[in-house]
Amino acid sequence: MKTPIELDRYSCNWIGGERVQGTAAMEVENPATGRTIARVPDLEDEAVDRAIESAGQAFDSWSRLPAGVRAGYLNEWAQRLLDHSEELASLLTLEQGKPLVESRGEIAGAAAIIRWYAEEGKRAYGEIIPASNEGQQLLVYREAAGVVGLITPMNFPAATVARKVAPALAAGCTLVLKPAETTPLTAIALFDHLMATGIPAGAANLVTGEAARIGARLMAHPAIRKISFTGSTRIGKLLMEQAARTVKKVSLELGGNSPVIVFPDADPEKAAADIVANKFENCGQVCNGINRIYVHEDIRDAFVAALLSRVRRLRTGPGLSEGADVGPLISGAALAKVERLVGDAVAKGGELLAGGRRLQAEPYADGYFYAPTLIAGVTGEMDIAREEIFGPVAPVLAFRTEEEVVAAANDTDYGLAAYVYTQNFARIHRMIRVLKTGNIGVNGTSLAYPQAPFGGVKESGIGREGGRQGLEEYTVLKYVALTTE
Ligand code: ADP
Repeated sequence: MKTPIELDRYSCNWIGGERVQGTAAMEVENPATGRTIARVPDLEDEAVDRAIESAGQAFDSWSRLPAGVRAGYLNEWAQRLLDHSEELASLLTLEQGKPLVESRGEIAGAAAIIRWYAEEGKRAYGEIIPASNEGQQLLVYREAAGVVGLITPMNFPAATVARKVAPALAAGCTLVLKPAETTPLTAIALFDHLMATGIPAGAANLVTGEAARIGARLMAHPAIRKISFTGSTRIGKLLMEQAARTVKKVSLELGGNSPVIVFPDADPEKAAADIVANKFENCGQVCNGINRIYVHEDIRDAFVAALLSRVRRLRTGPGLSEGADVGPLISGAALAKVERLVGDAVAKGGELLAGGRRLQAEPYADGYFYAPTLIAGVTGEMDIAREEIFGPVAPVLAFRTEEEVVAAANDTDYGLAAYVYTQNFARIHRMIRVLKTGNIGVNGTSLAYPQAPFGGVKESGIGREGGRQGLEEYTVLKYVALTTE
């Protein structure tokens, strides 16, 4: 496997428009080999404070720039990502593991998000409200929220950065980004390109290091007025508590336990193809990835057979190798969790139809590879139906009535996404009404588009990313009662 990129270039943070080295370092691993590939700063507290302060100093002038000028920097950033997409995609796969074809798609997607927000920043409209008294105007201004702290996860190291940095900058906020410890290199590379646009110093700052320590520093600082986080529900709750102390605005995109419901009148081939593509994308490490497959009893055996033939065709391998459909998991801990969930399901009577084991022969020996897995006969008592799997395991549950499956689908603290396959229009409308999730896919599983407001209900989160609503998250309203006569 070739390493086409110079990893030393990505060992710096960005503070106040300058490259910064920390006094301590953190190792970054290739999950396909388990080997260390780079070191990034484990930044000391004083430097994190400097990043926040430099965002604070840049805020007034950045937020006052015309939106079209801010859009100029963002559009140039997007173009640079497209011009360097092959190198960025290789870097992303190297540290994250996903197949190169997915990384290429992610870089293109990140550029599309940035371009969309460059334009949407021009439409952060206020409002004029008819007044109660003569000679008075009631005005609502929509202003940038201030300095924002952004914390991104490992599963989409480029897209999640774009989905936060682009609307923040477009809205006129300045920011400090802390990417995931396991995948900081892509974020650093994206920042190198952002800095190369000549964006004013301090508008965007990037810090890496021990998550709990840096997170606590960002959360405690009064200058940070908003925090946007994507990651686990456990850490999201912690950040919300920490945010309370300085009453920061919060957006949280957290975990899920997304069901797909396949009714007897669904198109079985399309449903099976979509479900396998969704389930095994990014080795199952997608927040709105399918976690539970509910299939009607009448079509269960045929549908499981359709899933099985597709799962068997998936090729597992290092993301940089030719033709890999599924790469490694991100870490040993992620692998151990998947092993535990499958072990529990099998012990409780689950029927293992494919996979169900770690891959340890060459070329998999030292990486975190798990065979694409299909388990039928899953029940609601199994951990795999209750916890977010975040791995390449597809559990199939059977159902008989619509009422029963809706109750089961909603029986979770999560509320991120749900998917429904049926051709019956009345049922489609009923399902949209009764499913308690922030996002629903009907006869399709693609949900993430720049223009659409993605986000969760219940313990899957607060706030939306994407769309006009995603820009509004980075703004605050200022209402003015203006008496002129
Ligand atoms: P996942 O399980 O998907 O890795 P995490 O919630 O652990 O999700 O991580 C998501 C992001 O949150 C990463 O950038 C990680 O470094 C960061 N993070 C982890 N722990 C904390 C913490 N205590 N405070 C702030 N950020 C944290």
